[in-house]
Amino acid sequence: MQAETVPDYEMFVGGAWVSSHSGRRYPVFNPATGRVLGRVPKGDPEDARAAVDSAKRAFEDPSWREIDPSKRGRLLYKVAQSLRERLADLAKLETLNNGKPLGQAKGDVAMAARHFEYFAGLADKIQGSTIPVPGKRLDYTVKEPLGVTAHVVPWNYPLVMAARSMAPALAAGNTVVGKPASFTPLTLLKLAELCKEAGIPDGVVNVVTGGGDEVGGSLISHPDVKLTALTGSVETGTKVMGLAAENLSRVILELGGKNPNIVFADADAGKAAAAVLNGIFTNAGQMCWAGSRLLVEEEVKDALLQRLVEGANSMRLGEGLRPETTMGPLVADSQRRRVAEYVESGIEEGARVAAGGAAPEDDGLRSGYFYRPTILDGVTRDMKVHREEIFGPVLAVTAFKGEDDAVQKANDSKYGLWAGVWTDDLRRAHNVAGKLESGIVTVNEEPVTFPQTPFGGFKSSGNSSEQGMDAVHSYVRVKNVSVNLA
Ligand code: NAD
Repeated sequence: MQAETVPDYEMFVGGAWVSSHSGRRYPVFNPATGRVLGRVPKGDPEDARAAVDSAKRAFEDPSWREIDPSKRGRLLYKVAQSLRERLADLAKLETLNNGKPLGQAKGDVAMAARHFEYFAGLADKIQGSTIPVPGKRLDYTVKEPLGVTAHVVPWNYPLVMAARSMAPALAAGNTVVGKPASFTPLTLLKLAELCKEAGIPDGVVNVVTGGGDEVGGSLISHPDVKLTALTGSVETGTKVMGLAAENLSRVILELGGKNPNIVFADADAGKAAAAVLNGIFTNAGQMCWAGSRLLVEEEVKDALLQRLVEGANSMRLGEGLRPETTMGPLVADSQRRRVAEYVESGIEEGARVAAGGAAPEDDGLRSGYFYRPTILDGVTRDMKVHREEIFGPVLAVTAFKGEDDAVQKANDSKYGLWAGVWTDDLRRAHNVAGKLESGIVTVNEEPVTFPQTPFGGFKSSGNSSEQGMDAVHSYVRVKNVSVNLA
């Protein structure tokens, strides 16, 4: 039998496609079928250094450093435009590499374009101020780019997470090195190509593929990297902060969550049920802000649970490119095993499986990394499934009695990324939102975000915010100039 040939991809450094200097490659898979999609360079510390050197040269080059900021903005608009023009192809690639349903991948590409559009508009509005000081002096501030910034990205939203942090960095005049997750490098490599096509000078956008410790760690440790934006797990965030400390470079951390969806008895049950299902089963639950804990007021718990079980059981698992698919696979077999182990631990600790609880048995799904949409009822605070981020399609259900109990249970987590509140009582909605220890709260809707609204976690969920006007200020340094006019 003839071996299947798959494409070899390259890394993007200095405006050109390059292999790892070691010549090594590794395969990336389609998680819905287990088939190899292509082979990418297995970068190492030397490749990471080459990418930073390229970004440093580009930062010092007048073609980028002295560019009219409005023109910098127009270049970013062009990137957004190409993302929209290639939306269908990019979404297909994201679905093949990550497994998510095509409709969700299309939404991701559109969101990536929105990030570039939003920050394109800010490129010529990053301004300082004049400050009244004593004496005959003129005192003013200038906001300068930092230099080279590193963007370390997870596998659940490979393109959007890269766009979300690279767009503000570029708008502010920095040059960037992206490091995709090992499982899902393909769309970020495409983004680098689109940036070049848009006219962004060579070396301003670089992408290095390879392992977290080897490539990611080397980028962060490089003395010319002035900021690292990591979207990833708490464990990685801790390591990244340690590495950055060696150089006293800046770190933006967007980490995990164990997010409560709080449903009060007076809420619209139909709307709440639909949103709870979307909030945990979109992207097969592999979302930092998945509503993975359902807190529901005792008297409506059974009725809501029944709707949720029906919804979970009616989901169609399959390849993301099939139009009937509503939930794809986990990104890798290791991730599926992790999910299965969590569910087993929940059962051992006394939770009841109300839906799912196993991998599907259908023949057509056997070679992919699927896991059924799962609902665990009777979850209590001592259980691992209550405390830890599972990062899969598993909803943990806990009942509460009244507002205080709801808030106490919602805040009973080391995480604080997102919380949902469902109630028809306006007073309660605002009071509860005010008491929640979460960076993002939504009322009567599923997790929703826009490029213009801040996105960031409290507690172990992160140390900063991406998106919104303030995000751009993370990517500049402030210089104060005092001029003696006497
Ligand atoms: P991860 O932490 O394993 O990996 C994230 C990235 O960090 C990858 O590119 C990885 O290669 C790299 N990395 C790993 N070890 C490293 C090291 N020692 N030095 C430098 N880089 C290293 O996370 P993941 O499994 O890819 O993604 C899932 C996690 O991401 C979840 O915890 C999820 O909640 C979180 N996440 C957070 C947000 C947010 O906005 N808060 C968004 C998406 C995902």
